[in-house]
Amino acid sequence: MDAEQLRECGHRMVDFIADYYKSIETFSVLSQVQPGYLNELLPDSAPNRPDTLDALFDVTHWQSPNYFAYYPSDSSTAGFLGEMLSAAFNIVGFSWITSPAATELEVIVLDWFAKMLKLPSQFLSSAVGGVIQGSASEAVLVVLLAARDRTLEMHGKKSLEKLVVYASDQTHSALQKACQIAGIFPENFRLVKADYSNSYAVAPEAVSEAISVDLSSGLIPFFICATVGTTSSSAVDPLHKLGKIAQAHDMWFHIDAAYAGSACVCAEYRHHLDGVEEADSFNMNAHKWFLTNFDCSLLWVKDKSYLIEALSTNPEYLKNKASQENSVVDFKDWQIPLGRRFRSLKLWMVLRLYGVENLQSYIRKHIQLAKQFEQLVLSDSRFEVVTQRNFSLVCFRLLPPTSEDDNGRNLNYSLMDTCNSSGKIFISHTVLSGKFVLRFAVGAPLTEEKHVDAAWKLLQDEASKILGSL
Ligand code: PLP
Repeated sequence: MDAEQLRECGHRMVDFIADYYKSIETFSVLSQVQPGYLNELLPDSAPNRPDTLDALFDVTHWQSPNYFAYYPSDSSTAGFLGEMLSAAFNIVGFSWITSPAATELEVIVLDWFAKMLKLPSQFLSSAVGGVIQGSASEAVLVVLLAARDRTLEMHGKKSLEKLVVYASDQTHSALQKACQIAGIFPENFRLVKADYSNSYAVAPEAVSEAISVDLSSGLIPFFICATVGTTSSSAVDPLHKLGKIAQAHDMWFHIDAAYAGSACVCAEYRHHLDGVEEADSFNMNAHKWFLTNFDCSLLWVKDKSYLIEALSTNPEYLKNKASQENSVVDFKDWQIPLGRRFRSLKLWMVLRLYGVENLQSYIRKHIQLAKQFEQLVLSDSRFEVVTQRNFSLVCFRLLPPTSEDDNGRNLNYSLMDTCNSSGKIFISHTVLSGKFVLRFAVGAPLTEEKHVDAAWKLLQDEASKILGSL
């Protein structure tokens, strides 16, 4: 490492990034390239001699104020600075001894966050505490492994084939992947149909019923996953009731609040977490809608012993006095990989440099913009808002003329495609009750009222053209 070279290149890179943000609206939001485009631009093999810094990649601009697809993945100055510091130290903090500051800062910021979310005291480090995972997918996988082993301990190792997982059919596919990895038999992965007439939350009675059927067949229900803010439509499952069902059957109850957890730092949205006290584990992604650059997924568990039993190893070459004395947290035993980055730095930076009040205002502003977009959709009778808006996601569609026999699929696909191909905005879609639905998720850091208005005008103009050509 040549410090002066780092200074020079670092300054150039910061200038490049600052200029990128300054001119971000000039780029097509959704990259307009074809698969394989980069092969034509880059050489077949790595350069033999050092190359220059001057390459610009054609990316999809997630930080564009006109980005409304999927869910947001926000960056911020504080997040950047935290990432820079983390890269500077470049520690691999798997055990406390390998970087006491990394472990201890993680414990502290997870406590800060738990308090912001008003999580029950059992989730604080005075009881157990939280850990930063790379993603919600990793979070659900590790708790599923813990729950699996806990249940196998109760019922015998040979009962793996009888273990059943329950979730709504609106649950993110991360749970399916976790089941595949954990060896849950595919036929024992129960996706209970959500209540389509009630904003796509799952009905606790339907989960109870599925459990009863399985119990009578000699199966072992062991895991329920509820979602606060489902991926398709931001539905909120009834946490309290699902938690009680899990408790009654000695099951693990996990809550996935990957996206909407951020909103719950505001008092007026906190009720969506009522019932979290019943959960064995709770997860939210600070890297989605909380200004913390990717990746930073926060997981809290009520009892760490099962997690550690499922994930720990203790080879000679990692032994050290602090770990042997059990006086420290070794996060290597709470996650899949051994090595881990100093991710708490960026969250610490975000919390310190912005403060809770500003972060709450940030969330409120996006929800306000989503409400504004929802009103615009409601004011145009050619469109409909398809389901209740809970946070900053609006699910809507262009109503199909009666002559259309595919329930508006082609029409709405065309609308999305033409708008995205214009490069002016990027929106995504889902299917709800058989309807092809457009998703407008507000949450990019630079989005203002004018961007929402312009996006709506584009949607209206393109809708007029499409309807006119029918
Ligand atoms: N859960 C929900 C509700 C999500 O919306 C998402 C992604 O959008 C995930 C889980 C998966 O998140 P990750 O990419 O962190 O694994």
